[in-house]
Amino acid sequence: MTARIIDGLAVSQQIRAEVAERAAALTARGLKPGLAVVLVGDNPASQVYVRNKVKACQENGLHSVLEQYPATLTEAELLARVEALNEDPAIHGILVQLPLPAHIDSHKVIETISPLKDVDGFHVASAGALMVGQPGFKPCTPYGCMKLLESIGCDPKGKHAVVIGRSNIVGKPMAMLLLQASATVTVCHSATPDLAHFTRQADIVVAAVGKRNMLTAAMVKPGAVVIDVGMNRNDAGKLCGDVDFEGVSKVASAITPVPGGVGPMTITMLLVNTIESAERAAR
Ligand code: NDP
Repeated sequence: MTARIIDGLAVSQQIRAEVAERAAALTARGLKPGLAVVLVGDNPASQVYVRNKVKACQENGLHSVLEQYPATLTEAELLARVEALNEDPAIHGILVQLPLPAHIDSHKVIETISPLKDVDGFHVASAGALMVGQPGFKPCTPYGCMKLLESIGCDPKGKHAVVIGRSNIVGKPMAMLLLQASATVTVCHSATPDLAHFTRQADIVVAAVGKRNMLTAAMVKPGAVVIDVGMNRNDAGKLCGDVDFEGVSKVASAITPVPGGVGPMTITMLLVNTIESAERAAR
């Protein structure tokens, strides 16, 4: 079997086109959707991420504000900025780029963002809403993974989904979204003995670990759908996921590549969340 490659770039472009239409409709009504991106310090990877987020806003008709502060910014100063953005009617989404410098409590910062503008979906209120099935912002990466499944007509209902990883930003919300979609969900992590025992039973595998080649062909049931969230570098410095793409694509029925799979979806779902927030403000 040769797996179908799930084209995250194409799905992303399609959703971004819808975002641009919705942004134009809101703007025509006098409410331009706005995202504030806050960066503290000079982490090079974070600088690339925030630049890409701002660029995606510009390309799709959203207003964006990039606030950059030196690593010496105090926690109190950052909290005051977040509170000011909470009150700013031109801003519908607030994203504080993580990681923050060690002297700032990330948890406190996230909890200061208004749940109405928490487009990253990291606030406890957003996580709680997801847990109990209430409306709220879904974390962008798992939300994007759900859209990728949808794009290939893979309905999780009745399927066994195995999520590898249990972080608050990927693994746990991914498991919740799959559960909401009526999959039977197993969550594996570093203390799971015999990971392959679980993955071999899965109709859908989502790998969100951060270790390259950790999911091999022998661990995958023939015909399974494999979503690779991992972002790692191989020995040559090339971007790669958690999945042995070569091997697994011979066993799976569909698979996301890295790059070009989950990656482009994360920023796209950030735009979707910001648009949804602005639409709510316009009601
Ligand atoms: P974390 O490091 O927070 O979580 C990794 C998870 O993997 C943990 O739950 C850990 O278990 C588990 N784990 C570690 N080793 C093993 C193992 N040998 N077997 C099974 N489980 C294991 O990472 P994130 O969730 O933040 O990110 C995961 C990956 O996804 C990273 O590569 C990251 O770069 C990437 N990523 C990609 C995004 C994208 O847009 N494409 C967005 C966000 C993340 P335990 O809890 O027990 O420690």
